[in-house]
Amino acid sequence: MAYIIDGKQISQDIKNELREKVTQFKENGKNIALAVVQIGNDPASSVYVNNKKKACEFVGIRSVAYELPEETQQDELLKLIDDLNADHSIHGILVQLPLPKHMNENAIINRISPLKDVDGFHPQNVGALCIGQPGFVSCTPAGIIQLLKRSDIEIAGKECVIIGRSNIVGKPMSLLLLAENATVTIAHSKTENLMEVCKRADILIAAVGRPKMFTKEYVKEGAVVIDVGIHRLESGKLCGDVDYDDVLSICSAITPVPGGVGPMTIAMLMNNCVESLKLQHME
Ligand code: NAD
Repeated sequence: MAYIIDGKQISQDIKNELREKVTQFKENGKNIALAVVQIGNDPASSVYVNNKKKACEFVGIRSVAYELPEETQQDELLKLIDDLNADHSIHGILVQLPLPKHMNENAIINRISPLKDVDGFHPQNVGALCIGQPGFVSCTPAGIIQLLKRSDIEIAGKECVIIGRSNIVGKPMSLLLLAENATVTIAHSKTENLMEVCKRADILIAAVGRPKMFTKEYVKEGAVVIDVGIHRLESGKLCGDVDYDDVLSICSAITPVPGGVGPMTIAMLMNNCVESLKLQHME
């Protein structure tokens, strides 16, 4: 029977540890604040933003909300980012994506100070990750490394196959696994013989955005399966990129959806906020 990796519990453990650290910081007069910027009122974004605020409250981080209307101009947002970059009482800046179509996402990401970029999306942080220097790491892949480590799953020397090459999941995931001495393959929409490539994996990470695409035909017996996808079915139930019930009989460990990778993303955001104090004092 496969081991079910409990992302909810592991994320709670991490938040409990962070809460203790933050309490100690406060005792030494150091308070952490995260600015959360949302443009428009996309319902999915509002749910994510609320969850981030709740996590901040639990850990003891002050969250400062900026809720701007959909028609906000890019220059106004850039001005707000400049102000937040210069504000010493703000340690982390998060601009909730996706942005409205009239804004250039890269221009916004690039304007956030790399020292406050708690999402880890700024090119300087991505570059630092690439060459093993300190910096913020994208939260979802960082959370997956924690899931594996805290479940005592060996990474070094293993064949890891990631399906998906996005900037926020697939690419940083590959760099983190490489840093853990895995042998890494990134597959994507143009990969030939995808099933065979996936079947090589000791650790298979699905980040494609297609509900239940990965059936047991893609999985080597005894592999660890990490499901990043999140989809709401017509029934209202959530599912991932992996056909969970089908794969359960063949894998050695698997993350469920919900309760696997999802909760880790916010826990690692909180971790990055705590790290921001360290990074900002390295200058
Ligand atoms: P994306 O759309 O940016 O990238 C998808 C990737 O999948 C692309 O690189 C593409 O080449 C690849 N792909 C698409 N169709 C494919 C196919 N048929 N075969 C092989 N590869 C294919 O997506 P993303 O932002 O990386 O997100 C992926 C999924 O993970 C989505 O379902 C998203 O909702 C979810 N997600 C979850 C979390 C979380 O916290 N749990 C965080 C980020 C993303």
